[in-house]
Amino acid sequence: MRRRNESTKHIFITGGVVSSLGKGLTAASLALLLKRRGYRVKIQKLDPYLNVDPGTMSPYQHGEVYVTDDGAETDLDLGHYERFADVTCSRESNYTTGRIYSTVIARERHGEYLGKTVQVIPHITDEIKAAIQVLDGPDVDIAITEIGGTAGDIESLPFLEAIRQYRHEIGRGMGLFIHLTLVPYIRAAGELKTKPSQQSVGILRAIGIIPDILICRCERSLSEDHFEKLALFCNIEREFVFEEKDVAHSIYEVPLDLAKQDVDKYILEQLELHVRDIDLADWHDLIRRLREPTLQPVEIAVVGKYISLKDAYKSIYEALQHGAIANDVNLNIRQVEAEDVQAKGAEAVLSGVRGILVPGGFGDRGVEGKILAAQFAREKRIPYLGICLGMQCAVIEFARHVCGLSDANSTEFNPSTSAPVIDLMATQRAVTDKGATMRLGAYPCQLKKGTQSAAAYGKLRIDERHRHRYELNNTYRDALGQKGMVIAGASPDDRLVEVVELPDHPWFVACQFHPEFKSRPLAAHPLFRDFIKAAAKDGGKGAAGA
Ligand code: GLN
Repeated sequence: MRRRNESTKHIFITGGVVSSLGKGLTAASLALLLKRRGYRVKIQKLDPYLNVDPGTMSPYQHGEVYVTDDGAETDLDLGHYERFADVTCSRESNYTTGRIYSTVIARERHGEYLGKTVQVIPHITDEIKAAIQVLDGPDVDIAITEIGGTAGDIESLPFLEAIRQYRHEIGRGMGLFIHLTLVPYIRAAGELKTKPSQQSVGILRAIGIIPDILICRCERSLSEDHFEKLALFCNIEREFVFEEKDVAHSIYEVPLDLAKQDVDKYILEQLELHVRDIDLADWHDLIRRLREPTLQPVEIAVVGKYISLKDAYKSIYEALQHGAIANDVNLNIRQVEAEDVQAKGAEAVLSGVRGILVPGGFGDRGVEGKILAAQFAREKRIPYLGICLGMQCAVIEFARHVCGLSDANSTEFNPSTSAPVIDLMATQRAVTDKGATMRLGAYPCQLKKGTQSAAAYGKLRIDERHRHRYELNNTYRDALGQKGMVIAGASPDDRLVEVVELPDHPWFVACQFHPEFKSRPLAAHPLFRDFIKAAAKDGGKGAAGA
């Protein structure tokens, strides 16, 4: 292990009682607050499951796969980190048990353990500590590590042991344990219950971790009695017990709720860091805009395959919200199951919307519905934003119905199509492994002057994140171009089409990359901002024909 930087302080965030408490949101909110206090913050998540990364997992299992600039396929909590704290995450921001074990096992095969028996303790825990230590550095004041899962899970144990050791080694004042629990409200009894939190802290105590700070998720406010009780039975000073109540409007309220209780101030004091002033005026303004949009509601359809699962398109929904904030409109998302468009017809499920977004996806289920959605947007002149598969569907649709290539398709869905307008990238042909083998991460793109995209970005050279194996088949560029589809962006060597547009349409932009990953609440992504702007035109009444 390399020598640790003596000045980086560490915060470890664990979760208790149940999953889905919003540990990632809490971690992201604290990162924002500490950054606003003038500290340089890095943040990561350690996930106890065995997949090396979530890239091969179904959205039903895992929700969205978030992609970093450096091409890591990661947990969606990294999206919260980037959006809230405006930090840039990397592959060092997400480690899983699978990744930790792979490293240890590869090292064992190289003979690096010199004949020793390789064990969970110390070899796996050392590797976890090395993953935490990656955040250390002269440019980092505070490193936040979120531990996935719930205290009491079998697979979390090596991670909890590793953070116990880490804090022991760095000492008090250098490291801090924050435990996020649930204080449920039992309707029948009309009471909030602290027992599950006490038990969860008990589980941590049994393995040697005594939380310094307890944050309680709750549906209703805790009374002073609850705070006292939690403090006494969890062995935590009263002033270090906080509540995190369900937010009324938006997840972006969480940092303000925590700031109101001075959680960040108590953290800094415990870490023996100077409590600098904090300015959250812009964040307050953001919440104000979210609560009181001055214009009409604007309804946008998101046509996807995992629509019933709200986490599957997390960054898409967030980026749409950012676009709405930037335009001061009230966003209303119509979640449309792509198969429904196929079964019931576009008119039946899409009429009335002011914008249509078709997000990324894999596999052929629902693809024909997405193609119909792109056709509906084009023909009815409804603003369209196509992302990755959403771009590929727009190209297939245009090829079929405008260029007359009725058999047009992607070879992902029909390998023997006579018009493969979307085809496997040459670099993908020899690939057989599924994990981390797509075209991943940030690549440059050159935009064409005079296009909607160039207008949105306000510049011609951009960098966006990718996650795909297929691309627009260059053989068809001319055919598409002749009928009016413009190649608005391509890789700098012009070999890979990145953006297509229809200039003869109020706003129709489709990109091979994923702009949603780079959108921020205070800085909406240009494409999302302009998409919502086009949709909100004429006070949300939408484009002609809608
Ligand atoms: N399945 C398509 C491809 O691999 C689209 C991928 C995506 O939408 N992320 O190219």
